[in-house]
Amino acid sequence: MKQTLLLLPGDGIGPEVVAEVRRLAGVVAPDLELQEGLVGGASYDAHGTPLTDDTLDLARKSDAVLLGAVGGPKWNGVSRDKRPEAGLLALRKGLDVFANLRPAFCFPALVSASSLKPEIVQGLDIMIVRELTGGVYFGTPRGIDEKGGLRRGYDTSIYTHPEVERVTRVAFEVARGRDGRVCSVEKSNVMETGLFWRQEVTLAHAEHGAGVELSHMYADACAMELVRAPKQFDVILAGNLFGDILSDEAAMLTGSIGMLPSASLGDEGTPGLYEPVHGSAPDIAGQGIANPCAAILSLEMALRWSLGREKAADALFAAVGSALEKGARTRDLGGELTTRQMADAIIAAL
Ligand code: ATP
Ligand code: MG
Repeated sequence: MKQTLLLLPGDGIGPEVVAEVRRLAGVVAPDLELQEGLVGGASYDAHGTPLTDDTLDLARKSDAVLLGAVGGPKWNGVSRDKRPEAGLLALRKGLDVFANLRPAFCFPALVSASSLKPEIVQGLDIMIVRELTGGVYFGTPRGIDEKGGLRRGYDTSIYTHPEVERVTRVAFEVARGRDGRVCSVEKSNVMETGLFWRQEVTLAHAEHGAGVELSHMYADACAMELVRAPKQFDVILAGNLFGDILSDEAAMLTGSIGMLPSASLGDEGTPGLYEPVHGSAPDIAGQGIANPCAAILSLEMALRWSLGREKAADALFAAVGSALEKGARTRDLGGELTTRQMADAIIAAL
């Protein structure tokens, strides 16, 4: 059966970088059927909503979904539930994705672009697996109110057994394709959900962790170790809040935000959602100078994690590395290439 990849270019530089994804897909996976839809502000302008039921339907029926970026100042006045960002949230929810994968990989050619010393980032290759659906971001009750004359704000941190188990299994699976080590991160010294997280991950390891080495670390220690000696990590597994913070921190170890892809995965057999870490970058949109690598590496992750095309993924990853090796650089990397020329350099390397 034909595999389909749904492209949702979105807003700002989204369409510019996704155009290059389309070309690259044509080279590394010519038999892949590409479809296209609207999301974010682009969808709001056309249909009055940032994600239509038809587009969500199309996404659910695809083998993988690749999104460019959503949002921009144009939609600042739009009500919260119709904002471009709401389209992305609806898409994540509609696809039931719960594990967010963010690599922090330092291409050898870009070691000098990092703000850290070369010996710290040379050879850096971490994957952060963040739980995406639970924890303090979604727990109830939550609110801001006044009780007994005291003004207060509160959230609830809660995790259930299935939530921790399913994301832990993804982390083990990811580790098996890498160095086989998972470091689980929480605050079990001061939080019940932290203690629960550690217990559940340990149980899941006994049951599903064959061949995987598991360790635990407090989130504050991990934040420190990521800057001091990041190469000690292989896979970092964390809940929603700590994963959010640590993945942004890890991203900054590697240089430009224009290089970073991400994947959001659900149960096996359901389509994954792939997107660059960067946003719609309104400050450079329309100029044709955005770095397409984050989007192209998101395609690489889609080939690997949803489409079962490991060889094509490997080839694409190697081509990005070799284009950089030959000096190909967009502006964010200190070069002069346009979006299109950067993609050309990667195609040439293929
Ligand atoms: P969002 O809220 O959607 O995450 P943001 O405001 O956090 O957006 P980005 O849109 O990611 O930020 O942009 C942050 C900065 O990085 C901007 O100056 C932007 O121009 C730059 N940037 C982002 N993506 C790229 C890219 N692909 N190539 C070059 N520069 C980029
Ligand atoms: Mg941002």
